[in-house]
Amino acid sequence: MSNNVILVRFGELYLKGKNKDYFENTLKNNIRRKLEGIECSLYFGRGRYVVKDYPNAVESEIIFKLKQVFGIHSISVAKRCGYELDDIAALAISMIPDNCTFRVTTHRSYKKYPLNSLQMNMRLGEMILDSKSKVSVDLHDPDFVVNVDIRENGDVYLYDSAVKCAGGMPYGTGGNGLLLLSGGIDSPVAGYMLAKRGMNLTALHFHSYPYTSEAAKQKAIDLARIIDSYCPGIKLMCISLTEIQETIHEKCKPNYMITLVRRFMMRIASKVAKDNACGCLINGESLGQVASQTLESINVTNAVVDIPVFRPLIGMDKDEIIEIAQRIGTFEKSIEPFEDCCTVFLPEFPLIKPTVEKVIEQESLIENYDELIEKAVSQIETIKLF
Ligand code: ATP
Ligand code: MG
Repeated sequence: MSNNVILVRFGELYLKGKNKDYFENTLKNNIRRKLEGIECSLYFGRGRYVVKDYPNAVESEIIFKLKQVFGIHSISVAKRCGYELDDIAALAISMIPDNCTFRVTTHRSYKKYPLNSLQMNMRLGEMILDSKSKVSVDLHDPDFVVNVDIRENGDVYLYDSAVKCAGGMPYGTGGNGLLLLSGGIDSPVAGYMLAKRGMNLTALHFHSYPYTSEAAKQKAIDLARIIDSYCPGIKLMCISLTEIQETIHEKCKPNYMITLVRRFMMRIASKVAKDNACGCLINGESLGQVASQTLESINVTNAVVDIPVFRPLIGMDKDEIIEIAQRIGTFEKSIEPFEDCCTVFLPEFPLIKPTVEKVIEQESLIENYDELIEKAVSQIETIKLF
């Protein structure tokens, strides 16, 4: 069993006021759920949590998993000992490199400890200097900081650094949103960003089988599985756009294809959102990235929905989006070369500046418009992810 512990820190800001318990309890449950099946014990103290009593071999796995829990801002791997001053000093001495400048910073949540924080810093500093000839104290810019955390439970934790984690708000505290999940790079990142603010995600993928392959749909399923590691229990649904696209292709002007498909998508998505108690849609649009993401195009597609559409990537460059996709582990899957339903019947010159009037004119050529939507929604398929 390791004598290390993992200290878990969460943000303070949202933990004030009446909602404090709700946020904290959700975070605790999310951590418990994440570490389910791993041998360890969890202690939930005020302002900080501790994972301990785990075998050495699982430490890196626990760290990996904690980094996927929204609401955790940083963690530190700490060494543990009891209140005995000699033991604390011995541990500090073992941690400090032989040739460096250092500082001791003590934090006492156990206020009855015989030495106060300042006295601890000085006493430990002396003991370290006595035993190591090549180290010296630098209070302002040391090479090494020994943080000493004296707890009420009889434990003292020593650590030197903190690892930044996902941050954000506990998953599930920010309402429910429907993520339009394509197989591309952007939409998984868009979902991640809203989930990071605590939003519970449901995902909807459109396919155009047999114009798009089974593998293209599988890619969306694989992406949802990756997202599940941040958004536990995410539900994925798939809807076929095939008949709708064939109808548009048959009845409307070719250059309206994408605009019309996207308005169908948004209408269908709003219905699915309402059926699944989702209060908003989330997509991966970024201004000007493609013809369907100009301000005019966004206006025309947005006009058919009456719930908020969140576009967390709207002001981001592709390389910024890719950086996040790489960090959250979706990038490699997203770049697998499978076609998206938006590429079916792709016109040579898609509209860059559509107007609502002209688009409605084209839509009026489709007599069974509502029926097509009803039919698509009625054939929705819920995917079993695990
Ligand atoms: P992505 O990398 O997310 O595929 P993109 O640059 O390819 O984005 P578009 O194809 O215009 O952009 O799609 C914009 C957004 O519309 C996507 O980010 C996604 O939210 C949604 N979307 C596109 N295709 C689909 C689909 N097949 N199923 C569900 N949502 C989709
Ligand atoms: Mg796409």
